[in-house]
Amino acid sequence: MSHSIEEPARRIDVIHETDVLVVGSGPGGLAAALASARAGVKTTLVERYGCFGGNITQVGVEGFAWYRHPATIDSEGIGREFEDRAIAMDAAMPEPQSISHSLDAEAFKYVADVLVEEAGVIPMLHRLVVAPIMEGTVMRGVIVESKAGREAILAKRIVDATGDADLAFRGGAPTFKHPVDEMMSVSVMFSMSGVNKPRFIEAVKADPQTYGDWAGNGEWDITTDGKEDALFSPFLRKPFQQALDAGLLPRNLATIAGTWGTVSDQGDLTYLNLVHFTLDGTDPAALTEGEMRGRRDAMLAIKALRGFMPGCETAKIRNFGMTLGIRDTRKIDAAYNMSADDVRQQARFEDSIGIFPEFIDGYGLLILPTTGRYFHVPYRALLPKGIDNLIVAGRVIGGDKVSHAAVRNMMCCAVSGQGAGTAAAIAVKTGRSFADIDVGAVQAELRRQGARLH
Ligand SMILES: Cc1cc2nc3c(=O)[nH]c(=O)nc-3n(C[C@H](O)[C@H](O)[C@H](O)COP(=O)(O)OP(=O)(O)OC[C@H]3O[C@@H](n4cnc5c(N)ncnc54)[C@H](O)[C@@H]3O)c2cc1C
Repeated sequence: MSHSIEEPARRIDVIHETDVLVVGSGPGGLAAALASARAGVKTTLVERYGCFGGNITQVGVEGFAWYRHPATIDSEGIGREFEDRAIAMDAAMPEPQSISHSLDAEAFKYVADVLVEEAGVIPMLHRLVVAPIMEGTVMRGVIVESKAGREAILAKRIVDATGDADLAFRGGAPTFKHPVDEMMSVSVMFSMSGVNKPRFIEAVKADPQTYGDWAGNGEWDITTDGKEDALFSPFLRKPFQQALDAGLLPRNLATIAGTWGTVSDQGDLTYLNLVHFTLDGTDPAALTEGEMRGRRDAMLAIKALRGFMPGCETAKIRNFGMTLGIRDTRKIDAAYNMSADDVRQQARFEDSIGIFPEFIDGYGLLILPTTGRYFHVPYRALLPKGIDNLIVAGRVIGGDKVSHAAVRNMMCCAVSGQGAGTAAAIAVKTGRSFADIDVGAVQAELRRQGARLH
């Protein structure tokens, strides 16, 4: 039975006014805020949790560029800066399957603070954006909720980097969401401590796993181009198979398998991407059930690793991600929606705001950029329809499943983020709308900031 009450209208304080407001601080939003501030306008970054970084720091997704091989032509700009800065600040470790570094999810919280401060971005943590402030189709600001109550923030231009297109959706722009059984799965991410590194590495070397070994296991049942199959992958399934056979894992957990990220000299085995299932990440009831189910399954996965993975015998949980890892919810219906062809056939666009290699990971497809193939990300894919003053960044940009499997990757979220933040700053400076902005001016500023556009 549906039941509702009337919420009385009330006056609320405008606590802040800014040129560019970025909502959400994942790789998309963090890059957007830095780019906007560096382009010279007053920029504010609002985040619901207590640290910047989105999935990197809140979920523990550390594999920032695990796709990079010697021939890969990669994005440049703020995404590369995240990696380089993390290395310089002792917040990264060599990644085992690529020529890249894995970010240290905990230490990156501090790296993000430093980047925000250095760029002069106005930081606002612990504020959840609950609604846009609309004048017709024009977004003028947002309403936030926090321990301080309900407050308003006004802005000349707004970047929706919430990962879920919360602002575009609530502002009335059309968005897409796949049925739950077609969504990419969610994961409870965790790390362990007390791993005997030499024993663990010896076991990995004695039986190296490949992408070919991913076949035949639900989420990890992937189609490749063939060129990926013999490459080393930090993949773990055998210990869980053995645990199932020994009755240590219940039969319904035959889905537990996946990758590890790094193992430190101190015995931390991080970025354990092993527990996954599907749910709608915009439904709090489903999220509640998923958080609890995921932690229960992760504890069983640890039991299996202790029993059957050499080096893990006396290891224990170090931490869970502070929230469930969500891969796939709403995407905007953009002025241009990217296609499978765009990301697989090296699309070239006049309004390119950056490039990303042919790295496709999701919806059962895994293509690694072992060649120099890459595509352009068009500015129009960031533009929601039917709404003014709003642009999006990160995994919510417009496109089909295969394009999403490419652009959702964190480096590409930084590309769209840098593009969105730069465009927002140029829009403020020139008084133009996002739809009739001088894209050449946006591209010139992106080049000045070190992004690669072609
Ligand atoms: C388990 C898992 C493993 C993955 N593995 C990889 C990998 O190995 N490599 C890779 O490149 N990608 C990986 N991904 C994908 C990648 O992490 C995401 O696609 C990417 O982080 C999306 O970036 P974003 O900036 O769009 O959003 P997010 O990183 O989700 O950031 C969104 C931010 O917005 C904040 N926010 C949301 N709503 C509000 C609101 N209403 N008010 C205020 N703040 C709000 C959130 O707290 C968060 O900080 C993985 C994803 C998951 C879940």
